[in-house]
Amino acid sequence: MKILIIETVWMGGARYKFLEKTLLTTFSILPTLQAREFAAITPKHHTVSVMNERYSPIDSDTAYDVVLINFVTSTAPRAYEIADTYRKKGVPVILSGFHASALPDEAKRHADSVLIGRNEQGWLSVLQDIEKKKLQPFYHTPPYNDSLILPPTNISLPGLVMTGALEATRGCPYRCEFCPETNIQGGASFYKRPIPEVIAEIKAIPQKTLMFYDTSLTIDPSYTKELFENMKGLHKKFFCNGNVDVLAHDGELVRLSREAGCVVWLVGFESICQNTLQAIGKTTNTVEEYAQAIRNIHRNHMVVIGDFMFGFDTDSADVFEKTLKTIKELQIDVADFSIFTPFPGTPLFKKLDDEKRILTKEWKYYNMGHVVFKPKQMTSEELLQGVQQMYAEFYTPVSSMKRILQNLNRGLYPFFIVFGRNIITIMSSRRLYINKK
Ligand code: SF4
Repeated sequence: MKILIIETVWMGGARYKFLEKTLLTTFSILPTLQAREFAAITPKHHTVSVMNERYSPIDSDTAYDVVLINFVTSTAPRAYEIADTYRKKGVPVILSGFHASALPDEAKRHADSVLIGRNEQGWLSVLQDIEKKKLQPFYHTPPYNDSLILPPTNISLPGLVMTGALEATRGCPYRCEFCPETNIQGGASFYKRPIPEVIAEIKAIPQKTLMFYDTSLTIDPSYTKELFENMKGLHKKFFCNGNVDVLAHDGELVRLSREAGCVVWLVGFESICQNTLQAIGKTTNTVEEYAQAIRNIHRNHMVVIGDFMFGFDTDSADVFEKTLKTIKELQIDVADFSIFTPFPGTPLFKKLDDEKRILTKEWKYYNMGHVVFKPKQMTSEELLQGVQQMYAEFYTPVSSMKRILQNLNRGLYPFFIVFGRNIITIMSSRRLYINKK
């Protein structure tokens, strides 16, 4: 069969300035992975094309036997539009991704079948069932088995690919109440790929830098230490996600990460208020341990990129000022700030929906830059302006320069990453797109 797999769908560039859009459409800095995993596992007797609207318009003139579209909540309207176009031509359309998994009945109105969960196995069943003309409406994630089998995703991408991407593990057992990843079917199960397979894939990736798309590489420290031991000498540089509980206490894991080539730990701090962390179920984070985790990373000459969200029910209007003061004291190198977004499928979406506090179900606004629910302790406007203010005050030229200089002695990669992220954030519309339509 002739198969088209559409990678993330591109919503158009209204929020991007010309220069930023040109950079984003030219360089594939953090390539998406899920569509390429579907492509990699597709049996070789099929012909597969992977498209991404970011790099080229979707070609709806070519005849395909089946189209698979993988998308997230904010791109659902565009995914449905593309799906409807193909279905009108009689081409079977399969939808997958977090949003389709959370709202399969909604997705099914635009598709012949919906893959629920991270479900490569379901994709193989879809292909067999199409050939037998017995396509099912839904394909659920198969029961847990403890290892994750994925062929290497050596599918070429358009654009200048700057960073390779892979998964060593999948899933997260912590079940934070805002997190769409853990709250889809099978998302709280934790899978590990055999380490020799991961190492072989890393060796085959042509880029010098890699991004581990694992939800967290600190969930199973023993596995991760073995992985890092095996990565020594591969001469790669990489970014990965980790949680405070392990990064604060497991000095050996942090040291091994540096020896393996890690240059950036991405940490979901989410909040500097312990009662907020407790309310949202972020059990891996203890605010008192933030400083220790950051010290461990910095001591090993690596960079901390921290994520913070605002608008939880325990957040009052003074949360912005308190957070700014704390993260400056903590010496976080790069910070991303977003408006809490209750994604469908999560316990927090259900809670707000039950309380009739969801302001819109127009999914295009669910991109962490819009207020889509009624906050409890502040107005929507205060929440929006607070997040804009966080960007404005954290990324002043003076503060950014200070952070850049602090990274001078951490090596070339940490220096350039902190330099690039701080300067790009000052110059770009990242902080300005908040709530822009
Ligand atoms: S620790 Fe991270 S990946 Fe895991 S459930 Fe929480 S937010 Fe999601």
